[in-house]
Amino acid sequence: MIAVLKRDTTPEQKEHLIQWLKRMNLDVHVSHGEQVTILGLVGDTSRVDMELLTSLEIVDTVKRVSEPFKQANRKFHPEDTVVEIGDVKIGGGHFAMIAGPCSVESEEQIIEVAQAVKASGATILRGGAFKPRTSPYAFQGLKGEGLRLLLEAKKATGLPIVTEIMNIKTLDMFEDVDIIQVGARNMQNFDLLQELGKTHKPVLLKRGLANTLQELLMSAEYIMSEGNENIILCERGIRTFETYTRNTLDVSAIPVLHELSHLPVVADPSHATGKSKLVAPMAAAAVAAGADGIMIEVHNNPSCALCDGAQSLTPAQFDQVSRKILAVREALL
Ligand code: PEP
Ligand code: MN
Repeated sequence: MIAVLKRDTTPEQKEHLIQWLKRMNLDVHVSHGEQVTILGLVGDTSRVDMELLTSLEIVDTVKRVSEPFKQANRKFHPEDTVVEIGDVKIGGGHFAMIAGPCSVESEEQIIEVAQAVKASGATILRGGAFKPRTSPYAFQGLKGEGLRLLLEAKKATGLPIVTEIMNIKTLDMFEDVDIIQVGARNMQNFDLLQELGKTHKPVLLKRGLANTLQELLMSAEYIMSEGNENIILCERGIRTFETYTRNTLDVSAIPVLHELSHLPVVADPSHATGKSKLVAPMAAAAVAAGADGIMIEVHNNPSCALCDGAQSLTPAQFDQVSRKILAVREALL
């Protein structure tokens, strides 16, 4: 349920109302917009007398929020959320260019790629240290050493880093990581989501291989319900009957998520297509659809990559794609 307050409400009147609502065992989330202040009520709102609430002098309107996601809902928070990582911002008109290898493989590799993607306009460096592989015999990532090398690359370039967590037991190792990624395979690992909710670290939450947008937003809600509002949603392609591409990029997810939620939305055309030649057109499509950022896999030698070489761009190819992305953004302004 949301209660929109009248513009001339004083801070005392607002506080008085919040305390009254809290005494009904409700959590009250306050959204101060430029135009209006909205109180978002979470809990058993069936006990709230809507007519009584609407009749209060300071209350403009009261509405039930029928969707099961509340804090992630745009009705709770009409303005775009901007996630801040130092000077880098994502959402609300701020665009993030995230690039880097699928996996961190060596110091030389990650530093070389980090420097190259930075020179081509990347604002955030990606790189997997803990890799969720389909086969237990495939390269599983450099783990702790991979995190250390990512931090070296951050030091060398100044780029903030995003990397995937697979198990909450490793959370302590992510202290200096700027954005923690929850991969597609863990989108509904609710214990993991709740623990990440207790931190204040930005979380990049990827859509599961076969999950609906509502399920993605419910996973965001798991994180938010524990107090962490720094979430970036990521459309990375879903399973369909098509086999030519690794997944199918659901471009419509971008405007739909923007309509339903205030959280920033980025797109990952690399995992969506599995083919390097399709990264440029799909990145352009995602930007045209309003994505707040693009995440692209880049490797200094894709044919020798330990993971996802077929979808990885060379630094020179990334440079071209990056220009294209910025040109599309420019054209849309
Ligand atoms: C990744 O980004 O490294 C990754 C494993 O992606 P996804 O979880 O989308 O498959
Ligand atoms: Mn990958």
